[in-house]
Amino acid sequence: MKFSTKVIHGGQHPEEATGSVIPPIFQTSTYAQSSPGVHKGYAYSRSANPTRTALEKALAAIENGTHGFAFASGLAAIDCVLRLLKPGDEVIAGDDLYGGTYRMFTNLFEKYGLHFKYVDMDNIQNVTNAITANTKLIWIETPTNPLMKIADIAKIVTSVKAVDAQILTAVDNTFATPYLQQPLNLGVDIVMHSATKYIGGHSDLVMGALVVNNEELAKEIHFIQFAAGAIAGPMDSFLALRGIKTLDVRMQRHCENGKAVAEFLQNHPKVGVVYYPGFENHPNHLIAKKQMSAFGGMVSFKLKEDTKEATFKFLESLQLFTLAESLGGVESLANHPVTMTHGSIPEADRLKIGITDSLVRLSVGIENIEDLLNDLNKALT
Ligand SMILES: *Cc1c(COP(=O)(O)O)cnc(C)c1O
Repeated sequence: MKFSTKVIHGGQHPEEATGSVIPPIFQTSTYAQSSPGVHKGYAYSRSANPTRTALEKALAAIENGTHGFAFASGLAAIDCVLRLLKPGDEVIAGDDLYGGTYRMFTNLFEKYGLHFKYVDMDNIQNVTNAITANTKLIWIETPTNPLMKIADIAKIVTSVKAVDAQILTAVDNTFATPYLQQPLNLGVDIVMHSATKYIGGHSDLVMGALVVNNEELAKEIHFIQFAAGAIAGPMDSFLALRGIKTLDVRMQRHCENGKAVAEFLQNHPKVGVVYYPGFENHPNHLIAKKQMSAFGGMVSFKLKEDTKEATFKFLESLQLFTLAESLGGVESLANHPVTMTHGSIPEADRLKIGITDSLVRLSVGIENIEDLLNDLNKALT
């Protein structure tokens, strides 16, 4: 199946009892057993729920994996990956991460004896040089949030596995979605999503996902999902499954509108640098071109006047773009990373990588592009 068919049919079958084409919301915690231990594959909804199972099969299908897992949030999915490790283990991660991932790594899991090193993954030697005998996981986010850097997934995986084939590699595929890139095809062990974003696509749920293509790893992840309990509920699973069905058509428009917004901003006299991997002068453009089928709907930029005052005035003047955290929904959102999503990163660290006061991150929605450009132009001038 091609991707646009997979999002609709991948892993899906009409429900057995009634033929219902769409999996019902099995809003139940438990299942009747005919004799102790004899049931129809479902015993208790923390372990498995048919609506969640339908979603998990769809997730596996669209990422070209064998097993999918749905969690209560994106961070719950990352938490599950970290629980594959034990005290003393080391993780190497990119230096421009989603703020909540960074917070979980440093403020939560350091306390339980895991160690994290942050490197600029533009240079793959930074990754391989950081590997020690204790390194157990490489955490890759690409495109990065909010600076839109691109890491070369295939190259990193090959280089890391050449040093130590036991080291796990994971990609946070939230920004790209499987429409743009499928990390398992590039040799990655674990794909992670904040399904809150493009997978759900309608800003109406909070959810996380993991997908793998390895039986052993799938068993370990299912054990942690079941034993720690941070599962996605049936109603949210239904909504995410519904979102997946339009992922292909939504992403087409997100990419078209994202490109138009990036080009508009680049030519605007009030705008300074624009971060968009589709530009030929983007430092990782060639990797993006090789690795992704298009460049997505996320665009970051700075005002020429690099002050908080000018930036707040711009953000307060927007009318169609809603000033809000999150991304990947059908509606366009604007975000001020310094005060909103990336507030937990120490000032010195964020300034070092270029997250300054006038940085704005746009999640370009699927509205009419002329309306979006008019809104930006009015707020800029
Ligand atoms: C939002 C986000 C997360 C966290 O997901 P939640 O669903 O908010 O817990 C992780 N990574 C990226 C890239 C994100 O954008």
